Amino acid sequence: MEIALDCPQCGGLVNLDEDDFVFRCEYCDTVLKPTGRNDVQSFFFPPKGTLAQVGRALLKAYAKKGKRVRVRDPRLVYAPYWRVRGLLFEWVFGRKVERGLYGATSYDLFKKLRAVAYHRTFPCFKASRWPMISLGLRAQVMPLHPYSEEKMGREALILPAEIPLAEAVKIALQNPGPSLDGSTERVEFSRANLVGENYSLIYFPFYVYMVQGNRENTVVVDAVSHKVVRGALPKTSPEEGADRRIPVKPLSFIPYRCPNCGWDLPFRPHTRIHLCRTCGRAWQEIGGEYREVAYSVSLKGVGEKIDAWTFLPFWRLTVRIKSPERTYRTLDDFYTLFPLPKVQDREELRKRAIRFYVPAFRIRNPAAVDKFAARMTRQQPLFDEACPGEFREIRAADVWLPLGEAMEMAQQILYSMTPSRARKTIETVRGAQLDLREGLLVWLPFKDKGLFLREAHTDLGIQKNTLELD
Ligand SMILES: [Zn+2]
Ligand SMILES: [Zn+2]
Repeated sequence: MEIALDCPQCGGLVNLDEDDFVFRCEYCDTVLKPTGRNDVQSFFFPPKGTLAQVGRALLKAYAKKGKRVRVRDPRLVYAPYWRVRGLLFEWVFGRKVERGLYGATSYDLFKKLRAVAYHRTFPCFKASRWPMISLGLRAQVMPLHPYSEEKMGREALILPAEIPLAEAVKIALQNPGPSLDGSTERVEFSRANLVGENYSLIYFPFYVYMVQGNRENTVVVDAVSHKVVRGALPKTSPEEGADRRIPVKPLSFIPYRCPNCGWDLPFRPHTRIHLCRTCGRAWQEIGGEYREVAYSVSLKGVGEKIDAWTFLPFWRLTVRIKSPERTYRTLDDFYTLFPLPKVQDREELRKRAIRFYVPAFRIRNPAAVDKFAARMTRQQPLFDEACPGEFREIRAADVWLPLGEAMEMAQQILYSMTPSRARKTIETVRGAQLDLREGLLVWLPFKDKGLFLREAHTDLGIQKNTLELD
């Protein structure tokens, strides 16, 4: 989906791809950093046709049915909808009943993952009789326009946004879950998580008329499709609702230059973290400012030819696993939950903290990437890390997932590592929370091997078509 906007430099009407974190004007070549893309931002869809045109069409429609009516008080009303995009991960642990030949039953434990791209819209206003519960496919294909009362029309009524973000998050997580065989499969527990999600508000246009025939009623018309909506919008004047408006960050722009050395940052529109190739520092935009992001690079197993490798970003999260019964702090604790077949030096394990490896690159196949992350986290590898200065010439993939989101993915990895029949571990992870002690961005070297990329030190492979490199 595209965001339609005026170039801040030349004023030309341009489109910014919604997934782009860097803006380049196609007319004047200006490169800028759009801000606030990680926060809730507001947009609107402009109506099609005028109030008068649609009013006349409405009259005609009534006339066709042989009804003589008067149409008065036409009004443009914008109603806010929440729009949520992200990756949905949902684990279900359960038991499956198996019936034997002579009527005897037994059961087996199972687990299932549903991991899909998520896109949903729902009303951000309270209306008891309102049939348009989503904007449908339109919210994925129509260009978004940044919220602007001037462009939406001074006479338009803008309904207040009433469903706060916290409530929207709850609504977003209500979904059908993995499909189960209802006759044999029973859910013991399930957890859903949205990872890398983005919440925005879309103000959708409606034309509202008072139609007077034998009696008077209000008719609401979808101002994009021109279909009559059989429901009533809330009656609120903007003044009444003004104090309940959800704070939103406007879309604005800052220079796309390294705050440390002043050189232009490399034009990589899909990355959230920008790596200066001149001074080697990494930056993330938060609240309209660049903040430095610490990182390290693993060079273990890389050898001389550094340009033969692709470096993929991971968040290395040093965590404690807290369950109601106990806190798991060391690797020795960790391996009581997730045992490895090989014999390990317990004395050594007691000295080491638990680290999760969460992929930060753009994901095409969430289930495959989840599996890879679970395997790497179970191995608890140790990497040799280089100082950032040597990193300038390295081929580094874009960073898509910010640190906070990585913690949500880590929670999923906890379930992914849990075997379906490990009763004790299931009981523990069911009530467990991850407590973040430290998070660091780490770039790990991968070598191209046919369909796979293989990590230099662990030799773990990931299929290339499960991630997006450029
Ligand atoms: Zn321009
Ligand atoms: Zn720099």
